Amino acid sequence: MDSRQQHINNLRNKSFQVAIVGAGINGAVSAAALAAGGVKVALIDKGDFAGVTSQESSNMVWGGIKYLQTYEIPLVWNLCGSRNHLLDAFPNRIKAISFLAAIGPTAPFGRTLGALGTILYWVLGRFKTKPPQVYSPEETSEIENLINSNGLKGAVRYDDALLIDNDARFVWDFVKNAKDHGAVTANYVSMVDAKNQNGNWKLFLKDELTNEDFEITAEIVINAGGPFGKDLTNKFHDQTVHQLALSKGIHLVVPKLTTNNRVLAFFDDKGRLFYVIPMQDRSVIGTTDTRVDNPISEVTDEDRNFVLEQANRCLNLVKPLTKDDIISERCGVRPLVVKGKKDVSKIEWTALSRKHEIEINKKTKIITIFGGKLTDCVNVGEEIVDHVRKLGISIPKLKKWYGEEDQKVFSTFESEFKQLIGISENDIEVIAPAIWRRHGNDSFEILEIMKQDPQNRVRIFPELDLTYAEALFIAQNEMVQKSDDLWRRRTAISLVRTREEIANNPLIQRINSLI
Ligand SMILES: Cc1cc2nc3c(=O)[nH]c(=O)nc-3n(C[C@H](O)[C@H](O)[C@H](O)COP(=O)(O)OP(=O)(O)OC[C@H]3O[C@@H](n4cnc5c(N)ncnc54)[C@H](O)[C@@H]3O)c2cc1C
Repeated sequence: MDSRQQHINNLRNKSFQVAIVGAGINGAVSAAALAAGGVKVALIDKGDFAGVTSQESSNMVWGGIKYLQTYEIPLVWNLCGSRNHLLDAFPNRIKAISFLAAIGPTAPFGRTLGALGTILYWVLGRFKTKPPQVYSPEETSEIENLINSNGLKGAVRYDDALLIDNDARFVWDFVKNAKDHGAVTANYVSMVDAKNQNGNWKLFLKDELTNEDFEITAEIVINAGGPFGKDLTNKFHDQTVHQLALSKGIHLVVPKLTTNNRVLAFFDDKGRLFYVIPMQDRSVIGTTDTRVDNPISEVTDEDRNFVLEQANRCLNLVKPLTKDDIISERCGVRPLVVKGKKDVSKIEWTALSRKHEIEINKKTKIITIFGGKLTDCVNVGEEIVDHVRKLGISIPKLKKWYGEEDQKVFSTFESEFKQLIGISENDIEVIAPAIWRRHGNDSFEILEIMKQDPQNRVRIFPELDLTYAEALFIAQNEMVQKSDDLWRRRTAISLVRTREEIANNPLIQRINSLI
């Protein structure tokens, strides 16, 4: 079995061409792209894969319509291109979805400008999505009665895309991809210090689970520390021209607010976009944009109240949402790039571009990734390959290095799934595609677990699409070290169920006892 311990053994005192520190989306795609190019890569993270910002996003794969307000046309063009590539490459994991943007009293523009903006967005999106549409206030209330009609000037509908499972699972897909191409990957391994010696790097690492210290060497290092970028720059004894500003964003997961499968968008009190996003049988509301100094942050009462107030103001709810309705909370810190030596404490961070930047120190061979988005991940991977080439490592032109497996195999999987004795029509419709979506060709291994015992086919929660067999497979095969790795990141169970529901679930307890 491809266990974490094996990967630790393959790290200890070994040499790599490239060592990547940080396994959020930026580190994971870099590892996947480089490994696909035949580079000997190590990828480490001090926590679990995607355990920091990359598990706290809005799960949108989007062209960034809101950046049209700041006239960032090239950014929107590029993000739309990335969104389109990802839609083609991950037809099951990423789905197009409609966004209905209400133009209410706090919207910074009216219906005509809103309509023009969505048309421009559609054009920049190379007409990949459904054409946008404009609605009068009456039409808006007819198609979505959850939108508060007080002061409503109408709505516009445009299409973008959403990760069907969660952001952290999407990152895991790239970690697995890297692993499958020969990368050595380990969670819960931190870089404590680093030394550049005779043109080569020595990294001092610590296994956070056993406290063992060990070293690796590498020709090139990549700082993919996200909001910890500065801390890693210090550990590499490096200096960068770009800096980071940190901005906290929170989401609250609440009971499902509308049965329509679309994202609702509003303008909050501050004129920022605010969303109601579907997540399985729940809704996610948010987000916020608050300046912070620390990469580790938490949801405060002020954040909670702000998000609940916005939802209660914008939505036509039978009963206002209160703290008692919160099922789970998400809190992430965006690493935003600041160009040059400005005083970060004095800049207007909401106006900062969300574009990523990659900085190279040619002398010491450090590559630092600043900012970025999940949507932009493939571009980051490909740019990293180019930079590593320029630093002297020969990499052939990349063939297809990301994406789902051949959809034709699903028909074989589905017909074998249907052979399971006593399987229900609903399981065939819901469970088979969910397993395929998350696991591709590995789905057959989950089927084997299901064949061993009909009890393994039972769902962890009856309303959700995760079975005991799949959860067991993940626990045993996806480098799960702690229960949160499984329930919060490889799956989104702890986002859509309360702590109490999880603590009282015997199937979860049974799997936890095996971790
Ligand atoms: C509220 C919010 C909503 C967002 N919504 C979207 C969205 O809808 N769509 C979108 O495309 N983007 C979105 N983003 C942006 C996106 O989530 C981030 O840009 C992206 O996840 C950053 O990834 P990263 O790899 O740079 O950082 P991270 O995911 O934070 O990864 C950095 C990793 O480095 C590790 N690390 C740090 N120091 C060390 C060390 N010493 N040793 C080992 N490991 C170390 C950390 O443990 C961490 O896992 C959102 C962000 C936020 C906060």
